Amino acid sequence: MTPSAPVILITIDVEEWFQVENLRPWFPPDQWDFQSSRVESATKRLLDLFDSFDNSVRVTFFVLGWVAQRHPNLVSYIKKRGHEIASHGYNHLLNYQMKREVLKEDLSRSKQLLEDITGEPVAGYRAPCFSIDKDILKAIQDAGYHYDSSYNSFAGNGRYGTIDTSGMYQRGMALQISSKFIELPISNIITMGQTIPWGGGGYFRLIPPVFFRSGIRHILNREKAYMLYLHPWELDPAQPKVPHIRNLPRFRHYLNIAKTHKRLRELILTFRYCRFLTCSQYIHSLRTC
Ligand SMILES: [Zn+2]
Repeated sequence: MTPSAPVILITIDVEEWFQVENLRPWFPPDQWDFQSSRVESATKRLLDLFDSFDNSVRVTFFVLGWVAQRHPNLVSYIKKRGHEIASHGYNHLLNYQMKREVLKEDLSRSKQLLEDITGEPVAGYRAPCFSIDKDILKAIQDAGYHYDSSYNSFAGNGRYGTIDTSGMYQRGMALQISSKFIELPISNIITMGQTIPWGGGGYFRLIPPVFFRSGIRHILNREKAYMLYLHPWELDPAQPKVPHIRNLPRFRHYLNIAKTHKRLRELILTFRYCRFLTCSQYIHSLRTC
Protein backbone atom coordinates (compact mmCIF):
# COMPACT_ATOMS: atom_id res chain seq x y z
CA MET A 1 0.00 0.00 0.00
CA THR A 2 1.59 3.27 -1.09
CA PRO A 3 1.06 6.51 0.87
CA SER A 4 -0.35 8.01 -2.33
CA ALA A 5 -3.03 5.33 -2.78
CA PRO A 6 -6.57 6.73 -3.00
CA VAL A 7 -8.52 6.94 0.25
CA ILE A 8 -11.90 5.51 1.18
CA LEU A 9 -13.57 6.98 4.25
CA ILE A 10 -16.20 4.62 5.64
CA THR A 11 -18.41 6.47 8.11
CA ILE A 12 -21.10 4.96 10.32
CA ASP A 13 -23.83 7.04 11.93
CA VAL A 14 -24.49 5.10 15.14
CA GLU A 15 -28.19 5.36 15.97
CA GLU A 16 -31.07 3.00 16.71
CA TRP A 17 -33.35 1.63 14.00
CA PHE A 18 -36.28 3.64 15.43
CA GLN A 19 -34.47 7.00 15.46
CA VAL A 20 -34.41 7.64 11.72
CA GLU A 21 -36.35 10.66 10.49
CA ASN A 22 -38.20 8.41 8.09
CA LEU A 23 -39.89 6.54 10.97
CA ARG A 24 -40.43 9.59 13.20
CA PRO A 25 -44.26 9.54 12.94
CA TRP A 26 -44.25 6.02 14.45
CA PHE A 27 -41.46 6.66 16.98
CA PRO A 28 -41.46 10.17 18.47
CA PRO A 29 -38.50 10.76 20.84
CA ASP A 30 -40.61 10.27 23.99
CA GLN A 31 -41.17 6.65 22.86
CA TRP A 32 -37.52 5.78 22.20
CA ASP A 33 -36.78 4.41 25.68
CA PHE A 34 -39.59 1.86 25.26
CA GLN A 35 -38.29 0.29 22.01
CA SER A 36 -36.05 -2.73 21.70
CA SER A 37 -32.43 -1.67 21.39
CA ARG A 38 -30.42 -3.28 18.58
CA VAL A 39 -27.61 -0.78 18.15
CA GLU A 40 -25.00 -2.78 20.07
CA SER A 41 -25.43 -6.04 18.19
CA ALA A 42 -25.67 -4.32 14.80
CA THR A 43 -22.58 -2.18 15.45
CA LYS A 44 -20.55 -5.14 16.73
CA ARG A 45 -21.38 -7.03 13.54
CA LEU A 46 -19.92 -4.11 11.60
CA LEU A 47 -16.81 -4.08 13.79
CA ASP A 48 -16.32 -7.80 13.12
CA LEU A 49 -16.60 -7.16 9.39
CA PHE A 50 -13.96 -4.41 9.52
CA ASP A 51 -11.68 -6.53 11.71
CA SER A 52 -11.76 -9.35 9.15
CA PHE A 53 -9.48 -7.22 6.94
CA ASP A 54 -6.36 -7.50 9.14
CA ASN A 55 -6.55 -4.08 10.78
CA SER A 56 -6.33 -2.35 7.41
CA VAL A 57 -9.82 -0.81 7.59
CA ARG A 58 -10.18 2.16 9.90
CA VAL A 59 -13.60 3.76 10.16
CA THR A 60 -15.22 6.86 11.68
CA PHE A 61 -18.24 6.26 13.91
CA PHE A 62 -20.48 9.31 14.36
CA VAL A 63 -22.22 8.30 17.58
CA LEU A 64 -25.52 9.82 18.66
CA GLY A 65 -25.29 11.22 22.21
CA TRP A 66 -28.59 9.59 23.17
CA VAL A 67 -27.07 6.21 22.25
CA ALA A 68 -23.70 6.96 23.92
CA GLN A 69 -25.40 7.80 27.20
CA ARG A 70 -27.24 4.46 27.25
CA HIS A 71 -24.40 2.37 25.78
CA PRO A 72 -21.10 3.89 26.98
CA ASN A 73 -19.38 0.51 26.76
CA LEU A 74 -20.17 0.36 23.05
CA VAL A 75 -18.39 3.69 22.51
CA SER A 76 -15.33 2.44 24.44
CA TYR A 77 -15.42 -0.81 22.49
CA ILE A 78 -15.45 0.94 19.09
CA LYS A 79 -12.49 3.05 20.22
CA LYS A 80 -10.64 -0.02 21.52
CA ARG A 81 -11.04 -1.71 18.14
CA GLY A 82 -9.02 1.13 16.58
CA HIS A 83 -11.66 3.41 15.05
CA GLU A 84 -12.46 7.10 15.44
CA ILE A 85 -15.29 8.33 17.64
CA ALA A 86 -17.07 11.45 16.38
CA SER A 87 -20.41 13.07 17.22
CA HIS A 88 -23.80 12.74 15.55
CA GLY A 89 -25.31 15.30 17.96
CA TYR A 90 -27.37 14.31 20.99
CA ASN A 91 -31.08 14.23 20.14
CA HIS A 92 -31.18 13.56 16.38
CA LEU A 93 -33.35 16.61 15.76
CA LEU A 94 -32.91 18.43 12.47
CA ASN A 95 -30.51 21.27 13.23
CA TYR A 96 -32.44 24.00 11.43
CA GLN A 97 -35.53 23.12 13.48
CA MET A 98 -33.76 23.81 16.77
CA LYS A 99 -33.53 27.21 18.44
CA ARG A 100 -29.95 28.47 18.46
CA GLU A 101 -29.42 27.85 22.19
CA VAL A 102 -30.83 24.33 21.94
CA LEU A 103 -28.53 23.56 18.99
CA LYS A 104 -25.55 24.88 20.94
CA GLU A 105 -26.42 22.61 23.85
CA ASP A 106 -26.93 19.59 21.54
CA LEU A 107 -23.52 20.14 19.91
CA SER A 108 -21.55 20.59 23.12
CA ARG A 109 -23.43 17.99 25.20
CA SER A 110 -22.78 15.20 22.70
CA LYS A 111 -19.11 16.17 22.35
CA GLN A 112 -18.51 16.30 26.11
CA LEU A 113 -20.31 13.01 26.68
CA LEU A 114 -18.19 11.16 24.11
CA GLU A 115 -14.99 12.75 25.45
CA ASP A 116 -15.90 11.72 29.02
CA ILE A 117 -16.34 8.12 27.84
CA THR A 118 -13.21 7.86 25.66
CA GLY A 119 -10.94 10.27 27.55
CA GLU A 120 -9.90 11.80 24.23
CA PRO A 121 -10.93 14.92 22.27
CA VAL A 122 -13.70 14.50 19.70
CA ALA A 123 -12.81 16.28 16.45
CA GLY A 124 -15.67 15.49 14.09
CA TYR A 125 -19.38 16.08 13.78
CA ARG A 126 -22.13 14.94 11.41
CA ALA A 127 -25.58 16.51 11.42
CA PRO A 128 -28.76 14.39 11.49
CA CYS A 129 -30.05 14.15 7.90
CA PHE A 130 -27.19 16.42 6.78
CA SER A 131 -29.13 19.39 8.20
CA ILE A 132 -26.59 22.19 7.94
CA ASP A 133 -26.31 25.70 6.61
CA LYS A 134 -23.71 28.44 6.95
CA ASP A 135 -24.82 29.52 10.45
CA ILE A 136 -25.04 25.94 11.72
CA LEU A 137 -21.55 25.28 10.39
CA LYS A 138 -20.32 28.25 12.42
CA ALA A 139 -22.06 26.89 15.54
CA ILE A 140 -20.35 23.51 14.99
CA GLN A 141 -16.97 25.22 14.80
CA ASP A 142 -17.74 27.38 17.86
CA ALA A 143 -18.57 24.19 19.81
CA GLY A 144 -14.93 23.14 19.39
CA TYR A 145 -15.10 20.63 16.57
CA HIS A 146 -12.26 20.58 14.03
CA TYR A 147 -14.17 19.13 11.11
CA ASP A 148 -17.72 18.65 9.90
CA SER A 149 -19.01 15.95 7.58
CA SER A 150 -22.60 17.05 6.91
CA TYR A 151 -22.56 18.71 3.52
CA ASN A 152 -24.46 16.64 0.95
CA SER A 153 -24.64 18.41 -2.41
CA PHE A 154 -27.64 16.34 -3.57
CA ALA A 155 -30.58 18.78 -3.68
CA GLY A 156 -33.29 16.18 -4.27
CA ASN A 157 -33.84 15.44 -0.57
CA GLY A 158 -35.68 18.27 1.19
CA ARG A 159 -34.15 17.44 4.58
CA TYR A 160 -30.56 18.06 3.48
CA GLY A 161 -29.13 21.51 4.08
CA THR A 162 -26.68 23.33 1.87
CA ILE A 163 -23.67 25.61 2.01
CA ASP A 164 -22.01 27.74 -0.62
CA THR A 165 -18.68 26.08 -1.34
CA SER A 166 -17.65 28.34 -4.22
CA GLY A 167 -14.28 29.93 -3.61
CA MET A 168 -13.34 27.50 -0.85
CA TYR A 169 -9.86 25.98 -1.05
CA GLN A 170 -10.19 22.25 -1.80
CA ARG A 171 -7.62 19.54 -1.36
CA GLY A 172 -8.68 15.99 -2.18
CA MET A 173 -12.25 16.00 -0.96
CA ALA A 174 -11.57 18.38 1.94
CA LEU A 175 -12.89 21.93 1.88
CA GLN A 176 -11.09 24.50 4.01
CA ILE A 177 -13.77 26.47 5.89
CA SER A 178 -11.30 28.37 8.09
CA SER A 179 -7.70 27.92 9.21
CA LYS A 180 -8.84 25.43 11.87
CA PHE A 181 -12.00 23.95 10.40
CA ILE A 182 -12.50 21.49 7.53
CA GLU A 183 -15.58 20.21 5.74
CA LEU A 184 -15.52 16.62 4.47
CA PRO A 185 -18.56 16.44 2.19
CA ILE A 186 -20.53 13.34 1.32
CA SER A 187 -19.34 11.97 -2.03
CA ASN A 188 -21.69 12.38 -4.98
CA ILE A 189 -21.34 12.12 -8.74
CA ILE A 190 -21.60 15.39 -10.61
CA THR A 191 -22.23 15.04 -14.30
CA MET A 192 -23.71 17.43 -16.88
CA GLY A 193 -24.64 19.88 -14.13
CA GLN A 194 -26.56 17.22 -12.18
CA THR A 195 -25.70 15.78 -8.78
CA ILE A 196 -26.38 12.08 -8.39
CA PRO A 197 -26.37 10.80 -4.78
CA TRP A 198 -23.56 8.28 -4.42
CA GLY A 199 -22.52 8.54 -0.77
CA GLY A 200 -24.27 5.55 0.73
CA GLY A 201 -27.34 4.92 2.88
CA GLY A 202 -30.41 4.09 0.83
CA TYR A 203 -28.59 4.82 -2.43
CA PHE A 204 -25.96 2.20 -1.59
CA ARG A 205 -28.80 -0.28 -1.04
CA LEU A 206 -30.72 0.81 -4.15
CA ILE A 207 -28.05 1.07 -6.87
CA PRO A 208 -26.79 -2.29 -8.21
CA PRO A 209 -23.29 -2.96 -6.77
CA VAL A 210 -21.54 -3.11 -10.14
CA PHE A 211 -22.76 0.40 -11.00
CA PHE A 212 -22.10 1.68 -7.50
CA ARG A 213 -18.49 0.51 -7.62
CA SER A 214 -17.91 2.08 -11.04
CA GLY A 215 -19.29 5.35 -9.65
CA ILE A 216 -16.81 5.14 -6.77
CA ARG A 217 -13.97 4.70 -9.28
CA HIS A 218 -15.19 7.80 -11.09
CA ILE A 219 -15.12 9.81 -7.82
CA LEU A 220 -11.71 8.41 -6.86
CA ASN A 221 -10.30 9.52 -10.23
CA ARG A 222 -11.52 13.04 -9.53
CA GLU A 223 -10.71 13.52 -5.84
CA LYS A 224 -8.47 10.59 -4.88
CA ALA A 225 -10.91 10.05 -2.02
CA TYR A 226 -14.44 8.73 -1.55
CA MET A 227 -16.73 8.90 1.49
CA LEU A 228 -19.38 6.27 2.26
CA TYR A 229 -21.99 6.60 5.01
CA LEU A 230 -24.13 3.84 6.50
CA HIS A 231 -26.09 3.12 9.68
CA PRO A 232 -25.93 -0.06 11.80
CA TRP A 233 -29.68 -0.67 11.24
CA GLU A 234 -29.03 -0.87 7.48
CA LEU A 235 -27.21 -4.17 8.11
CA ASP A 236 -29.78 -5.54 10.54
CA PRO A 237 -32.47 -7.50 8.71
CA ALA A 238 -33.76 -8.92 12.02
CA GLN A 239 -34.92 -5.51 13.32
CA PRO A 240 -38.64 -5.24 14.18
CA LYS A 241 -40.85 -4.47 11.20
CA VAL A 242 -43.14 -1.49 11.59
CA PRO A 243 -46.71 -2.44 10.65
CA HIS A 244 -48.98 -0.24 8.54
CA ILE A 245 -46.09 1.81 7.20
CA ARG A 246 -46.70 3.72 3.97
CA ASN A 247 -45.04 2.57 0.74
CA LEU A 248 -42.34 5.24 0.44
CA PRO A 249 -40.93 5.07 3.99
CA ARG A 250 -41.15 1.27 3.86
CA PHE A 251 -39.17 1.24 0.63
CA ARG A 252 -36.58 3.69 1.97
CA HIS A 253 -36.03 1.87 5.25
CA TYR A 254 -36.13 -1.80 4.37
CA LEU A 255 -34.84 -1.96 0.79
CA ASN A 256 -32.16 -4.64 0.47
CA ILE A 257 -31.11 -4.50 4.13
CA ALA A 258 -30.51 -8.27 4.03
CA LYS A 259 -27.87 -7.67 1.34
CA THR A 260 -26.03 -4.66 2.81
CA HIS A 261 -23.48 -6.65 4.83
CA LYS A 262 -22.42 -8.66 1.78
CA ARG A 263 -22.34 -5.55 -0.42
CA LEU A 264 -20.14 -3.69 2.07
CA ARG A 265 -17.75 -6.62 2.34
CA GLU A 266 -17.49 -6.83 -1.45
CA LEU A 267 -16.95 -3.09 -1.73
CA ILE A 268 -13.99 -3.27 0.67
CA LEU A 269 -12.57 -6.27 -1.20
CA THR A 270 -12.91 -4.47 -4.56
CA PHE A 271 -11.03 -1.43 -3.29
CA ARG A 272 -8.31 -3.20 -1.29
CA TYR A 273 -5.74 -1.11 -3.19
CA CYS A 274 -7.08 2.00 -1.41
CA ARG A 275 -6.31 3.24 2.10
CA PHE A 276 -9.30 2.94 4.45
CA LEU A 277 -8.73 5.83 6.86
CA THR A 278 -10.70 7.60 9.57
CA CYS A 279 -11.69 11.20 8.84
CA SER A 280 -9.03 12.54 11.23
CA GLN A 281 -6.37 10.32 9.68
CA TYR A 282 -7.34 11.59 6.24
CA ILE A 283 -7.17 15.27 7.29
CA HIS A 284 -3.78 14.59 8.90
CA SER A 285 -2.53 12.88 5.72
CA LEU A 286 -3.44 15.96 3.65
CA ARG A 287 -1.43 18.17 5.98
CA THR A 288 1.65 15.99 5.94
CA CYS A 289 1.93 15.10 2.25
ZN1 LIG B 1 -28.70 10.00 11.80
